[in-house]
Amino acid sequence: METGTVSIHYSFKIPKRGASARMGYNKDNLYHLAYWYPRVSVLDDVNGWFTDNFTGNAEFYHDHGNYQVTFTAPEQWIVMGTGELTNANETLSELIYDRYINAGTSDTPVKIVTKNDFGNVTHQTETGTITWNFTAENVRDVAYSFVRESNWDGMRTPVGDIDNDGKTDYSRINAFWRETAPLWNKSAEYAAHSISYLSEYTGFSYPWPHMTTVEADGIIGGGMEFPMITIIGSYNNAGARALYDVTAHELAHMWIPMIVSTNERRHAWMDEGSTTFHEAQARWDYFPGSYNLTQEFNGYLRIAGSPAEGEIMRWSDYHYPGPAYGVASYPKPGSVLIALEGLLGKETFHKAWQTYIDRWAYKHPTPYDMFNTFEDVYGEDLDWFWRSWYFETWTLDQSVSDVKTIDGIGEITIEDLGRIPMPVDLFIKFEDGTSEEIRIPVDEWLKGKTSTTIEVAASSPIILVEIDRTGYFPDTDRSNNKWEK
Ligand SMILES: [Zn+2]
Repeated sequence: METGTVSIHYSFKIPKRGASARMGYNKDNLYHLAYWYPRVSVLDDVNGWFTDNFTGNAEFYHDHGNYQVTFTAPEQWIVMGTGELTNANETLSELIYDRYINAGTSDTPVKIVTKNDFGNVTHQTETGTITWNFTAENVRDVAYSFVRESNWDGMRTPVGDIDNDGKTDYSRINAFWRETAPLWNKSAEYAAHSISYLSEYTGFSYPWPHMTTVEADGIIGGGMEFPMITIIGSYNNAGARALYDVTAHELAHMWIPMIVSTNERRHAWMDEGSTTFHEAQARWDYFPGSYNLTQEFNGYLRIAGSPAEGEIMRWSDYHYPGPAYGVASYPKPGSVLIALEGLLGKETFHKAWQTYIDRWAYKHPTPYDMFNTFEDVYGEDLDWFWRSWYFETWTLDQSVSDVKTIDGIGEITIEDLGRIPMPVDLFIKFEDGTSEEIRIPVDEWLKGKTSTTIEVAASSPIILVEIDRTGYFPDTDRSNNKWEK
């Protein structure tokens, strides 16, 4: 192995809004640095040197690495971002440092900085500047926020047993927010829940020493993820539930693409679709009443099969203008994961999903690596599924077209009106109050049929037949899914 050292001297003025609202400053009390230093391209065994340019939309593709980053900033500015702050005692004032240490062992939010502390948050020096040191391991990028008039809430959150010593490990949560964003007084709790929940759901403990949320209204309206740090708008108008959602979303990105390092430039759906799916899982856990699969599908179904739709597999920067990029990157791949869960069953899906994350942590999976992991765990070929949902803009529309009960035999005719083949999950109810559930295998459609009739024993007449009663499949027309006598 050969090694070399490259030194690059460079400087730039932080733009007010740069890198398509991923970096900037606001109100002379907040700066955020991102996409801000020369990077080495990825050399992988699929693309060779990966040289696609950043054009503002599709995000990044980076290798993991270790970083030591030093900032010299004026006094009273707090710096936080990717990595462990290794000189907190030399930077923070004694009072703030004590609270910071307390927060690291507190299961509820600690007010580390409030507005009464502004002007007394760092040490004072002769030069009027403070040097902040960060060490980050195994991250694919580094980004930092600089705040002067932000509240700072801190706590810890459990992430599972990382070092296998039989004890729960914790990660530190930081939330920085200005008085102008009052909903943010819950940000630390939202972040704590998201990190703990997703550590459990993915089976992969959040690996880094902290997760930090920064309210950055004026730089960004939605949210943007970086390893260990995210910037998010105030959400004053959107409300608390939307602030939870965006927090869970940005933090879900810590798993994909920050750990499972997908190529966002080519396949934004690999991280955004997975993250849309993870966001829903976290939301349903935090707000149990919010469980609603139809709502998850709406973003996709509103343009499903129309000329406005683009294939999921189309390279992210190559979608036609309009909603194609957004739908193919976020709600459609999110919906398709739900459909896959419906197809495989919760348990098998979950096992395959955790296997995918575990196998591809700190590596670069292509879409085929995800597909192959599912087939490997499931034990069956799913080419028909990938082709239909990922490579085409076909749609799913199954319909109950006829139901008869004659001489103790029920005859149910199903038509497959869309081009996507999927198994048919039938719920059948009989007049005597009994019911039955049947799955017509997908093979029926793979033979080329578009209509099929099945027979069921019916000692009492059938009074109701419903396709996909649990609503796991994004069917474009649910009005024909149900037959009632
Ligand atoms: Zn996202």
